[in-house]
Amino acid sequence: MAYIEPAPIKDRENPLESMMERFNIAAEKLGLSDEVYNVLKNPAKQVIVSLPITMDNGKIQVFEGIRVIHSNILGPAKGGIRFAPDVHLDEVRALAAWMTWKCAVVDIPYGGAKGGVRCNPREMSKGEIERLVRAYTMAMIDVFGPDKDIPAPDMGTGPREMAWLMDEFSKAHGMTIPAVVTGKPLVLGGSLGRTEATGRGVMVSALAAMQKLKINPFTATCAVQGFGNVGSWAARLLEERGLKIVAISDHTGAFYNEKGINIVEAIAYRDSNNGTLEGFAGGERLENAADLLTLKVDVLVPAAVEDVITTANADQIKAKLIVEGANGPTSAKADAILNEKGIMAVPDILANAGGVTVSYFEWVQNRLGYKWTADRVNRRSDRIMKDAFDNVYQASIKYDVPMRIAAYIVAIDKVAQTYTYRGGY
Ligand code: GLU
Repeated sequence: MAYIEPAPIKDRENPLESMMERFNIAAEKLGLSDEVYNVLKNPAKQVIVSLPITMDNGKIQVFEGIRVIHSNILGPAKGGIRFAPDVHLDEVRALAAWMTWKCAVVDIPYGGAKGGVRCNPREMSKGEIERLVRAYTMAMIDVFGPDKDIPAPDMGTGPREMAWLMDEFSKAHGMTIPAVVTGKPLVLGGSLGRTEATGRGVMVSALAAMQKLKINPFTATCAVQGFGNVGSWAARLLEERGLKIVAISDHTGAFYNEKGINIVEAIAYRDSNNGTLEGFAGGERLENAADLLTLKVDVLVPAAVEDVITTANADQIKAKLIVEGANGPTSAKADAILNEKGIMAVPDILANAGGVTVSYFEWVQNRLGYKWTADRVNRRSDRIMKDAFDNVYQASIKYDVPMRIAAYIVAIDKVAQTYTYRGGY
C-alpha cells in the first residue's frame, strides 16, 4: 500500500499568511472588535480524511482529502474542490477564507469553504478519478448538503467530477439532489453561462477598471497567464471587447505575438492537443514562461495559480492594471511594491467572483426546478459584478486604500455585521 507523504509548503509565500496580512489591515481600518476578529480569523470546521483507492494496477493508494469551512455566517458554505499534487491544509484554509470574502463582496448569501485532494489528475485514469471523487463525497457525506456546504469545481476538477459527486450524494440519500453541488453539466441541472462565468466576470471588472484608468480597450494590450477555464474565457471575452491579447501561457509554456494572438484559434488548438498549448504556433515561445508577467502591456490577467507576483518580480511589472483571475496570485508582500508603482490590482475576491455568482444562480435554479436563459444569467451576473466593482471602488476612496484592502473592508464589514445580529453562544 503506497502512502503519499504530506506535501511540503513550497518555497513561496504562504497563502494563508498572505490572506491574513490583508485581513489584518482591513480589520484595523474598519475598527473591528477583537471578539469578531477572532471569530472571523479561525475556520469554522476543518475535515481531513484518508481515501484508499484501488488504482488500475490493482494496488491501493491512499489519498488525503481536505474540506475547510471557513464561515457559514452569511449562509451555507460555498467553494470549489481542488485536485492538485501539492495542495496543503494552509492553502485550503486561505482559499476557504477567500471564498467567504468573495461571496460577501458580491453580496450572495453564502459562507466560504474549499476542498482539496492531493493527487495528480493528469496522471490518473478516468476510472481512478471517478473512484476518488466518489470516495471523497462519501467521506464528506455529513459535511456537504444544499443548505450546509455546496462544492463546485476548482483547479483540476470540472463538470464531470461534479456529476459524479452529485450522483454519489444523491444515491446515499435515495433521491436526486442537484443543489448539493454547482458547476454540473447542463443536462444534470448545470446553469447556462456557468462555464464562462469566471472569465466573464474578469472581463467585466477589467473593463470597469479600464474606464476608471482611462485605458481605451480598442488600443489596449493584454497578457493572460493560465489557459484553463478562467484564463481562456477571460482572454476570449477581452479580445471580443477590443483588447489585443499579446501573450498567453499554460503549464507547458508562454507564447508572445506582438500583433495579437487569435484566441479562438488558440482555444481550438488546446482542445485538439490534449488540453495544452504545447507546440502552439500562433506566437513565439518565450524562453522563460514567467517573463509573461513582466511584459510591457496595459492589462495583466494572472489566471493560473497562487503567488506568481511576489517580491521577486513585482518591481518589474509594467502593466497599468492587474485583474486577478486566479485566487491569490499576488503575495501580500508584493502589494506594497505594486501600490508604490501606482499599479491598480482588481483583487481576486472581486475579479474572479463571477464564477461563484453563477454557481449561486445554478443553485437557485435547482431549487426552483426551473431553467434560466443564458441571456438572463449573463445580464444578472454582469450587473452583480459591476455593482460590486463600484461598491469596492467607492470604499477605496472612502477609506483611502487600494482596491484590494477596500474589497476586504466591504466583505469583512458585511460578515461582521451579520455575525453581530446572529450572535454567538
Ligand atoms: N472555485 C471557484 C472559485 O474559487 C468557484 C467556486 C464556486 O462556484 O463555488 O471561486
